[in-house]
Amino acid sequence: MRTVRWGEVLKRVDGGALWSDLEAICALGGRFAGTESEVLARDFLAGRLAEACGAAPVAHAVEYQGWTRGEATLEIAGGRTLFCVALVRSPATPPGGLEAEVVDLGRGEAADFERCAAAIPGRIVLVRHEYMFAAGTVHRRRKYAWAMERGAAGFLIASHLPGELPVTGSSGAEPGRGIPAAGVSAETARHLNGENGSNPRIRLRIASEAGPACTENLILDLPGRGPGRVVLAAHIDGHHLAQSAMDNASGLAAALAVAGALAPCCERLERGLRIALFSIEEWALAGSRHYVEGLGPEERAAIDLVLNLDSVAGSPRLTALTSGFEGVERFVLETAGAAGLELRAHRPLMANSDHYNFAVHGIPALRLVAGFDEPSSNLKYVLTPADTLDKIRPEELEGAALLAATLALRACATPELALR
Ligand SMILES: [Zn+2]
Repeated sequence: MRTVRWGEVLKRVDGGALWSDLEAICALGGRFAGTESEVLARDFLAGRLAEACGAAPVAHAVEYQGWTRGEATLEIAGGRTLFCVALVRSPATPPGGLEAEVVDLGRGEAADFERCAAAIPGRIVLVRHEYMFAAGTVHRRRKYAWAMERGAAGFLIASHLPGELPVTGSSGAEPGRGIPAAGVSAETARHLNGENGSNPRIRLRIASEAGPACTENLILDLPGRGPGRVVLAAHIDGHHLAQSAMDNASGLAAALAVAGALAPCCERLERGLRIALFSIEEWALAGSRHYVEGLGPEERAAIDLVLNLDSVAGSPRLTALTSGFEGVERFVLETAGAAGLELRAHRPLMANSDHYNFAVHGIPALRLVAGFDEPSSNLKYVLTPADTLDKIRPEELEGAALLAATLALRACATPELALR
């Protein structure tokens, strides 16, 4: 059997195709789950995977509690109406709106909730969005949960960036358990500060509908010589405010490029490559959770490594979030170093993308992400109307795809890969 020449494989990571795939995905919109944009993107990806790999992916149906966004507004004193964005899965307010006072908790970390505990019941709490790609981030869903636990009537999260950029994201509400939640711009938040520390009264109106829905994960299995697999993952869905270009059209385009580069040689490699394009990642990682929970013990044991590509452009600096697996960290740093590619690693398990669902089942898994601990990078625009194509430089995307292809190839080719 012909040996695999690594240089030839990596040469197939073609910058031109990468960029045209990225543009095509962005042109289909933000891919919010349950919208036509999501369906069109999935169809496009299935077609491109089949073209690039010579085999069509299988669609795995995932039933979930769907949610449709309606109008959302915020009315302040004097009847002035300001723009806000319902967070994903926010319950609707009563038709007349939710009228309550706002209590501004600043950033909204645990200590802020503690300090203002007496002022929270029955009020709408206001907290700040923060840079998500960092070790010390307090996730929006934690802030939301604290607000609920302390008896808040509603939840507002304000952008930390100037420029009329409201933020979106998941609320963490579940059917029957949630309070109305919306994102606002930094400028809007300024209208919510009462004079002399008073709590201004506002009326929050959110229309939304929930009901059973179905989406699909796309799985393409490219067998190798043995039973082992390397899973290359990226999430399809995004948000409605923009193109979700960095998060995660970048990961999808890179995954297509890696799949196309490795497909012709997979059967000659030690283990196969499985491309897994998940949906409803923005729904608390629901698509990948459904997939991992559906795997039997032998199937899980056969997965030697998961490479999750999520937000891999917007900065040229890439970090592997290695989910507590020391062996994974060593493997990726050695592999990148030997190839002369820059890569950093961050070891604690982070529940911020689909790799988490594999890692909690003991499957070695990492997320490749750009801009980690780099709050001034373009990744700061993720979840805002500014997550658009112009925030990505072609060389960033090429660098990410080349690194991902190098890691995937080495993982597929290495005879003994004991990363557990
Ligand atoms: Zn993402």
